[in-house]
Amino acid sequence: MQPVCIPLSLTNVYLLPCDGGFLQIDAGYQHDYPAYRRGLAKAGIPLEQVRCLALTHHHDDHAGFLNELTRDADLILIAHRLAGDLLRGGANDRSRGGGYVNRRIRFLAGLKARFDPRWSLSFPPFTLRERDLRVGGDDDALLRRLGVPGALLYTPGHCIDHLAVVLDSGEAFCGDAAANFLTWAGTRHCCVFMTDMDQAYRSWQKLLDAGARRIYPAHGRPFAAGRLRRDLGRIQNRDLARFFDGRTE
Ligand SMILES: [Zn+2]
Repeated sequence: MQPVCIPLSLTNVYLLPCDGGFLQIDAGYQHDYPAYRRGLAKAGIPLEQVRCLALTHHHDDHAGFLNELTRDADLILIAHRLAGDLLRGGANDRSRGGGYVNRRIRFLAGLKARFDPRWSLSFPPFTLRERDLRVGGDDDALLRRLGVPGALLYTPGHCIDHLAVVLDSGEAFCGDAAANFLTWAGTRHCCVFMTDMDQAYRSWQKLLDAGARRIYPAHGRPFAAGRLRRDLGRIQNRDLARFFDGRTE
């Protein structure tokens, strides 16, 4: 099954067929909203056909335009229950430790922070509504009820509230649980920022065990899931370059 992909400034948004329309995976930065609407139109999908949105996690580049989207579209959000407070807080969670996958990435992130005035790691706060669906862990039933043959997997490691979508046919929409971005800088299919590498690799194993064959990341191009098997365990928690102190721990 070939998903519709709308590449935004940094984030890929994917759309999969569901009952009565489409399930969307993620939303981009707030400033991506006009580009998202143009991308949707270009793909020939009217906004009212976007029936639900699975949010992989609360970060600024995934939850940025939820206010605009829920204002304009009558859709149901699906998120991990831990995302509720984090979305209301309007900032990427830094309370659970972690850091950049290596010093080179931290250096690049520092440059980005210096020269891109929009780089804030915060986003307009969003409050999940009564009608939105909160998931407490792995869920093999919810997506099927919506007409999507697949499961939601709880996949922490990049952050605490992370979900991925794995279809029965092997396509895995992994959000930031894995990435194909800045690989030349040694990311080894991790996202640039990680909270806990042990947890992250358990999440990769979970994706593989669930039958993931092709990975559709939020950042970078799709790739074969075998590459995760190859890179499992390559970065340790002690390798992470922390945010502020310039030391590894
Ligand atoms: Zn993220």
